[in-house]
Amino acid sequence: MLLVVMGAAATAADVARVCDLVRERGLTPQVMAGATQTAIAVDGVEGRAVGAALRGLSGIAEILQVDPPYPKAARTAHPDPTVVTIAPGVAFGGPAIPVIAGPCSVESEAQIVAAAEMVKAAGAVALRGGAFKPRSSPYAFQGLGPEGLRLLARAREETGLAIVTEAMDDEGARAVAEVADCIQVGARNMQNYALLKTVGRLGKPVLLKRGAAATIADLLLSAEYILAEGNAQVILCERGLRSFDATVRNLFDLTAIPVVHQVSHLPIIADPSHGTGRRDLVLPMARAALAAGADGLIIEVHPEPEKAMSDGAQSQTPEQFTATMRQLAGIAAVLGRTLA
Ligand code: PEP
Ligand code: MN
Repeated sequence: MLLVVMGAAATAADVARVCDLVRERGLTPQVMAGATQTAIAVDGVEGRAVGAALRGLSGIAEILQVDPPYPKAARTAHPDPTVVTIAPGVAFGGPAIPVIAGPCSVESEAQIVAAAEMVKAAGAVALRGGAFKPRSSPYAFQGLGPEGLRLLARAREETGLAIVTEAMDDEGARAVAEVADCIQVGARNMQNYALLKTVGRLGKPVLLKRGAAATIADLLLSAEYILAEGNAQVILCERGLRSFDATVRNLFDLTAIPVVHQVSHLPIIADPSHGTGRRDLVLPMARAALAAGADGLIIEVHPEPEKAMSDGAQSQTPEQFTATMRQLAGIAAVLGRTLA
């Protein structure tokens, strides 16, 4: 609902003008006259667009969006948590916490299969690895593309791990959907609305990462695009925000985890690798994310991080990842949960 609060000096003509504009959008204004001020309520999600159109009209004191503009993602309409299952035994939002791990990029068959075997041995239930990479520089490694998808399928054959990999455009999304158990939409594409609609229609689970400068409401509005296409299988991901302190790559906003749980029924996981940019900080922040209530983690691990084609500095070594999983099991137990 949208609430338009008129100022004390507003005239009857000001009120009528607001009501006319609301009706022109096919909506019904409800006028509530008070002793000194009048308010006009407008029901429905389209009220948000009307609010923007009304801004600046004479006589208006305040325009309030009363309920969240993302009705399908909001807790209000769906009090129970949504559980998103990407493969048998890999469910986000339930009591068991899945960990997705693997390299930033798929680089070769030997690399991805070694990574898959290693993360599986340590307790991960899904393998990450980008075949299509969104890189800040056009000259940086862009990923192996379709060949990378083929190698991910190989790694699944070898290990049985579920596959999570990124799509950057419509055509890529269709190719990714044929191989992946869960399609990742990266931080840079969180507001690529055409891509959100496409992954909404593909019907596969989607891992939607928060943009580096996106508010929590922006993230939930992006999730709403996918839900509005009829795909309810959306997992949100906090991966850090652009900030002023160059000590770390991003400011890892763990507050978003309990806030999202308050306002939405969708599961939210955390990415302490991109969240910090430094492998020495991944373990403490993975512990913190779980303690904050994350429904899962996605962690970059490389068999030989010093040789990684992307994000080597934040990729854990196999030994570090094994130690991380051991500690996460302890944190989960304290919370009355388990690792999946
Ligand atoms: C990634 O997962 O490797 C990646 C590119 O992440 P983000 O979109 O969060 O930067
Ligand atoms: Mn990466």
